[in-house]
Amino acid sequence: MRKQQNKASAGAASPLTQKEESMKSYAFGVDIGGTTIKMGLFTTEGNLLDHWEIPTRTEDGGSHILNDIAAAVEKRLKKDGISKLDVEGIGIGVPGPVGPDGTVLGCINLGWDVFNVEKRMYSLTGFRCKAGNDANVAALGEMWQGGGKGHKDIVMVTLGTGVGGGVIIGGKILPGINGAAGEIGHIPMYDDDPEACGCGKHGCLEQYASANGIVRITKRYFEARPDAESSLKSVPSLTSREIFDEARKGDAVALEMVGQVGYLLGKALASIACVVNPEVFVIGGGMSKAGDILIDSIRKEYRRFAFHASRETEFKLAELGNNAGIYGGVRMILE
Ligand SMILES: [Zn+2]
Repeated sequence: MRKQQNKASAGAASPLTQKEESMKSYAFGVDIGGTTIKMGLFTTEGNLLDHWEIPTRTEDGGSHILNDIAAAVEKRLKKDGISKLDVEGIGIGVPGPVGPDGTVLGCINLGWDVFNVEKRMYSLTGFRCKAGNDANVAALGEMWQGGGKGHKDIVMVTLGTGVGGGVIIGGKILPGINGAAGEIGHIPMYDDDPEACGCGKHGCLEQYASANGIVRITKRYFEARPDAESSLKSVPSLTSREIFDEARKGDAVALEMVGQVGYLLGKALASIACVVNPEVFVIGGGMSKAGDILIDSIRKEYRRFAFHASRETEFKLAELGNNAGIYGGVRMILE
């Protein structure tokens, strides 16, 4: 991680020559999750000074959440002796759709209805606030200080229990009119899947190409072919990790499953490239720990399906892990 201990250089003596004269020294990045809220104190040059978590209180319709964040910011400023006048603002990632003006369009796992997070946060703290969908904000963080550093047009794909994503164009989040741009996991791949995706549709990318998805298609493979020989059949509670481990050892079924995931992701990303033509795909999330075997599989299929001008698009691994959201939050404030 990029946590840096340079509080001394971040104070009043920090050089402002590269920045606008009016730029203040500090900003907060906040990433609201269903159980914890990640918070980070940054310099406006992009150095993470410290990060910590507070619990997400979802009771009472989530009405305590922004108050708790405001209180945590206040407490931190007091502790470090930072003047409110030296804080540029607070950038927040929210686990739900957020419109371009900071209006949350309902957020089920926080208990939130429709309201403007930026205005509410400003009224609580007096600080400028920017809010965005958490996956989009994480993508912005990776563009700024992570796997997409040095690039302005990136597509981030997060392969966890589901498939998430974010599209950054010209250095800015592409939110879409309802904050639903970058919902890569719900790209339709098949139209005849008997099981429904978490979103209610059938045949979404994340039903196959996520950590849960690859386990699901593997189990389905064995149901259809009970005589298939594979070391995976003796694994009591199968996870994506075992599938990638066995694929590395040459297990034919595991290799076929990794190939299927590569095929679906490669094809989906080739479609995305036809629309936004990014410089880099940044691949993150827990399943990306599988590393080269996964990336090589995706890249091979991507090159097969990509339009000729975008065939050489780079694939990089995400670098910021769970801190991508707080980096992206601060980046929104500095734009
Ligand atoms: Zn879906």
